[in-house]
Amino acid sequence: MSIDAAETNEDRRKYEFRKVLEELEEFEGSGTQLVTIYIPEDRQVSDVVAHVTQEHSEAANIKSKQTRTNVQDALTSIKDRLRYYDTFPPENGMVIFSGAINAGGGQTEMITRTLESPPNPVESFRYHCDSDFLVEPLEHMMADSGLFGLVVLDRREANVGWLKGKRVEPVKSASSLVPGKQRKGGQSAQRFARLRLEAIDNFYQEVAEMADDLMVPKRHELDGILVGGPSPTKDEFLDGDYLHHELQDKVLGKFDIAYTDESGLYDLVDKGQEALADQELVEDKNQMEEFFENLHTGNQATYGFGPTRENLIMGSVDRLLLSEDLTEDVIPFECPNGHTEYETVERRHTTPSQDCSECGEAADPGEREDVVEHLMEIADQRGTDTKFISTDFEKGEQLLNAFGGVAGILRYETGV
Ligand SMILES: [Zn+2]
Repeated sequence: MSIDAAETNEDRRKYEFRKVLEELEEFEGSGTQLVTIYIPEDRQVSDVVAHVTQEHSEAANIKSKQTRTNVQDALTSIKDRLRYYDTFPPENGMVIFSGAINAGGGQTEMITRTLESPPNPVESFRYHCDSDFLVEPLEHMMADSGLFGLVVLDRREANVGWLKGKRVEPVKSASSLVPGKQRKGGQSAQRFARLRLEAIDNFYQEVAEMADDLMVPKRHELDGILVGGPSPTKDEFLDGDYLHHELQDKVLGKFDIAYTDESGLYDLVDKGQEALADQELVEDKNQMEEFFENLHTGNQATYGFGPTRENLIMGSVDRLLLSEDLTEDVIPFECPNGHTEYETVERRHTTPSQDCSECGEAADPGEREDVVEHLMEIADQRGTDTKFISTDFEKGEQLLNAFGGVAGILRYETGV
């Protein structure tokens, strides 16, 4: 898989997570009957099944017949889902939601949703039965799901680790044999200096190897790298290109850090906070800059649902830009004369009635579909990358409000 394809998949997975979470937040049970289970990746599925079976038999004591039935149905449905898994859940674990939700008019509807491999690991097993689903832990995960590499070093020691979301994870350390600045009496000054430089060079190589071993395998998921230490150590280390070139390209900044033990990793994150926050928006900003530039200086840009869709089908879109906050559905309307037109509506609004713009006949609505999924499916078929754009900056907000949340950077001019 190419880097771009991997990033698109990652974006898409996050989008799908967000969507399910939004949906789950809305649901209510009429009693304490909605079940949520968080399962860490190292929890055996058979243990979970045993736990669910236990809850099922305890639920027999629930006084309200309706609640009892609903809880037991939810647990049975969860057990059915668990059958699809082998010994352990997928990487990072999974979360299952099941229960009878209020469907309006005194009716309930049984729903079950499974979210596999969230962006950060599920930390502990949780069984939760309440009048709503437990979504907060997943929401926190979505809010801070970045992965950053950390390197702190001076000439005596070094530590490398991760920043995963808001959590610092020290991984490896090394200490050097670089002699101090004080040479022993009788030693040639020149020889001493040369040996010392060699030792420093060796140590930088060792630190780089340590960082490479840890971070190169994760380079496609990595959002950036922070390097910390006293001057001139960190500068020498970066200027000397010791790191693998793909990691070197991911360095977001270097920061003055007094300590280079594990505590230095935490200092580094504090000092690098601003660079980290900016980084999340940098790529989105670049995409929007390019879009506006294309829009103003040529015609290699498109926006709005209809024209973008048309361009996508032609295969002329290089990158599809979708607002992260886009919450619309698309409805195909078909008239008796065989004309099909697509209209977009807010996700929770009712389907309007529509006349065909070509022949004026009343058109029948077809199946509603999420705009994002509709467009991404066409994009996938045409080899077009999709980028999700945050609304946390001016041009990102403009994409949502002025361009309907949908735009494209074109490969060539199409006149559409
Ligand atoms: Zn028609």
